[in-house]
Amino acid sequence: MKIFVLLLLINALSLAQISFDANFESGNINTVTTTDSINYTVTTISDIGGRWFYFRIKGVKDKFIRVTITSTDVNRPMYSYNNRDFTRFTESESPSLRMFQKTFTEDTVYVAYYTPYNYSYLQERIAEWKLNPFTKIDTLGITDNGLPIQQITITDPLVPDTEKRRVWIHARTHPSETPSSWHFDGVVQKLLSSDDVISYYRQNVVFYLIPFTNPDGVYYGRSRTNYNGIDVESNWDKPEFETSIEVKILKQRMSQINNERVFSVFNNLHSQAASYCTFWIHTPGSTSPRFYRREYQFSNLNTSDNPYFVPDDYSESNLLAKFPEGWLWNNHGEQVMALTYETPYDQYSSDVWVTDSNLMELGYRNVYAIAEYLELSHPKWYILDNKNTIATGSWNTDTA
Ligand SMILES: [Zn+2]
Repeated sequence: MKIFVLLLLINALSLAQISFDANFESGNINTVTTTDSINYTVTTISDIGGRWFYFRIKGVKDKFIRVTITSTDVNRPMYSYNNRDFTRFTESESPSLRMFQKTFTEDTVYVAYYTPYNYSYLQERIAEWKLNPFTKIDTLGITDNGLPIQQITITDPLVPDTEKRRVWIHARTHPSETPSSWHFDGVVQKLLSSDDVISYYRQNVVFYLIPFTNPDGVYYGRSRTNYNGIDVESNWDKPEFETSIEVKILKQRMSQINNERVFSVFNNLHSQAASYCTFWIHTPGSTSPRFYRREYQFSNLNTSDNPYFVPDDYSESNLLAKFPEGWLWNNHGEQVMALTYETPYDQYSSDVWVTDSNLMELGYRNVYAIAEYLELSHPKWYILDNKNTIATGSWNTDTA
């Protein structure tokens, strides 16, 4: 009789329910189905596409499961037992797109398309950055769901702003694109470092940094839109009544800054499924030959001696009024070197796998590229002649 009870107990334990949920910040899961409690099929809540997933599985300790996420395009997603430190599934754990399989060693596991960078984590980072005397945090406006669009201003307050150049960098218009936040984080870390060269940059530039242009989308686990299903990225040419609150807030702040002095550099940080970084350089036909050359110059400064990003990775596209770059061009023309910078989720063109730390490294490099583009030469960081970064010559040839 004793043996019988024990067997029953073992049986009950091994059949303990495995459960899936995404009932937390930035979470996204829609349906889960299984016929054998080993193979699971998951779908996500789609907006424009259904790329982003971020869910929790409970009851998995010492059990082998295989999960296929049909609505996404993920290549080797990330998992974490503490929802903080994320690890990429190995090649054998994720041998094909959209799936992972593993015997987990803890009872609860979190799985995401790429390492999350959610609203609460940003608040932790801001609390830390705020302690630095070169940082000022402002709220530019409140979204439809009550979240702030935050601005981090970094500059040396002892030097008057009137003579400084202005740089604007923003990220997370598309909420799924978490690598862009690790890139952004690297930019902030570099700008706050105690270093002669960086302190010279802070004396000469005001950096306006917007970590989340779409905090509602981030908070509610969207892939490409805000809470209301609007793609904030392509909402810049709409009449007032069709313009999202996010774009209204950003336009208002950009106009306010540009009325004082037009910013010299605008960086729009995104991430792409393609396995390489890229800049979307605007064709000379849709801008001007000089602008085109200046964008190449900035891009070349970024890729110079860069193990993760090479000139072959560049893309070209026509400038369109619906994007923020188009809005800036229509208002300020060649004055603002406005570029979208994409980071990948899986691998760089060099086949190196993307990690939070190499994304941050791209952020550090971007700071130097911006300063070099602005010709801020410091005795400890000389700008050397580099044929790839020369932007002189005739502007008459349209090479589009
Ligand atoms: Zn994007």
